[in-house]
Amino acid sequence: MEMMALSLLNDFLYCPRRAGLKGIDGYRSANEHTVIGTLAHEHADLPGYEMVRGVKLLRGLPVWSERLGLSGKADIVERHPDGALCPVEYKKGKRRQFDNDDAQLCAQALCLEEMFKMRVERGAIFHATSKRRREVEFDVALRQLTEEAIGRMRQTIERGEISPAGFKPACKECSLYSICLPEVAVEPGAWQRKAQALFEV
Ligand code: SF4
Repeated sequence: MEMMALSLLNDFLYCPRRAGLKGIDGYRSANEHTVIGTLAHEHADLPGYEMVRGVKLLRGLPVWSERLGLSGKADIVERHPDGALCPVEYKKGKRRQFDNDDAQLCAQALCLEEMFKMRVERGAIFHATSKRRREVEFDVALRQLTEEAIGRMRQTIERGEISPAGFKPACKECSLYSICLPEVAVEPGAWQRKAQALFEV
């Protein structure tokens, strides 16, 4: 099975078209949100480890799963004194819950379970702006959502299907907005207005 980037799962749950544009067409683009996201990861995923109050913090740990065909990197994996592993993902913004972030974290946990042959019960999202940590339990529902999304994502990418654009609130923060132009798809006149605007002084 061909390996796919684990982070693409986050894109897929954010918007399947975004995952298609990145995973099939290879588009990459930055905007203020991706730059803030990169800054939030600064130092968090530099490879190495340290001990903090008896907990070993493994930074930038490569993770993979042959079963799921995923590979990526965990920002931090905590190894607690009882041997329990806990992935921690850094995200920009305030403490909020998003299914795509939780599923990405759960996919990391599934990789760790396969790599270390042990159960990973919970992880955490660290929200950089509010500097607050949100615990995430890898319960049956989240595991199902994650595995089902991985299956759909693989099918979409392998078939080379890029979903049609559809304007939605998530588009406002999407770094591929200027490539995707979702408003053109929902409003036929928008394309002509954009073309005219190119020549207006
Ligand atoms: S601009 Fe909107 S429709 Fe287009 S890829 Fe981004 S989120 Fe998806």
